[in-house]
Amino acid sequence: MASVFSDDIAIDLGTANTLVHVVGRGVIIDEPSVVAAVMRGGGRDVLAVGLKAKALIARRPPERVELIRPMRDGVIADFIATEIMLRQFITRAKSMLGFRRPRILIGVPAGATPVERRAVYETALSAGARKVYLLEEPVAAAVGAGLPIDNPQSFMVVDVGGGTTDIAVLSEGNVVQARALRVAGYAMDEAIMRHVRRKHDLVIGEANAERLKIEAGTAVSHANGREVEIRIKGSDLRHGRPKEAVLTPSDMAEALSRPIGEMSEFIRRALEDLPPEVAHDVTRGGILLTGGGALLDKLDVALQRSVGVKFVVPPTPMHCVIRGSAAILESLDTREHLLIGP
Ligand code: ADP
Ligand code: MG
Repeated sequence: MASVFSDDIAIDLGTANTLVHVVGRGVIIDEPSVVAAVMRGGGRDVLAVGLKAKALIARRPPERVELIRPMRDGVIADFIATEIMLRQFITRAKSMLGFRRPRILIGVPAGATPVERRAVYETALSAGARKVYLLEEPVAAAVGAGLPIDNPQSFMVVDVGGGTTDIAVLSEGNVVQARALRVAGYAMDEAIMRHVRRKHDLVIGEANAERLKIEAGTAVSHANGREVEIRIKGSDLRHGRPKEAVLTPSDMAEALSRPIGEMSEFIRRALEDLPPEVAHDVTRGGILLTGGGALLDKLDVALQRSVGVKFVVPPTPMHCVIRGSAAILESLDTREHLLIGP
């Protein structure tokens, strides 16, 4: 029973964003997975994590401040920074919990190695958990999207995060195929940067490219009703002077066609490698598209065209993993079979 004294939390530890759900309270943290630290005599002093760290870097940062991304491609790249970030998030969650240290359910990519899983387990423990439960992210994403994963039917989940596009095929609650491609949200940002440099002699930063993608990006050119002009500011490739350029949605679709093409090729190959009866289920039921990248305008349409299978984007695809993790945590007694060992 989820009482007011519940001390359980679910965490989606992502490459780009970390979310924390407190049972009985909902999502209380949804922040970028970043740590700002100042280098000092071989060591580093952490100044801020999450949103505060990002804000600190955005405002003309003090010297020697570094923005650390503790996660890379879905797994821990910097143990100490991950632990510090998690500890701070857990401490914030604890003010809403009882006195005990919390039990934590945390997701790992389905393709993570035993060593990578163990690292998440140990890091969550040392960041302040009393007990740590692990589950595979696509299982959480599927539950979060409302798929009946315990049914004798196979599902494919494609999650487009910051660093990787993760494909998982689920059969009766188990992951039967898992693959990751290092082409996802960040690669789209880079493709936009390359495109404006090549076509407009304009240099823009990563943050600008991401903003452009979110506000004006589209996967399909001639998107009806969106053929508006987009003004962007950057610096001239040759003289470095401030410069402006005007882009159209067709420009955006052209810029994004390469990463999206790579993603569809990867999905097509994954489908081809499935046993016929599993592939049949996936083709019939459609592919679930989750993660922040699923929010790119018409990504589902572009993928559907080139893969030839229907793609379904659930409401708030960026929250599927945390929503599913929370749902599983709240009914652990009947869903323990979905957990994996450290
Ligand atoms: P991760 O699980 O790797 O932390 P997320 O699922 O949080 O990743 O997704 C982060 C990615 O989603 C980022 O690359 C971000 O730019 C991208 N993203 C977020 N919103 C949108 C949007 N509206 N359109 C396109 N991409 C988006
Ligand atoms: Mg994710």
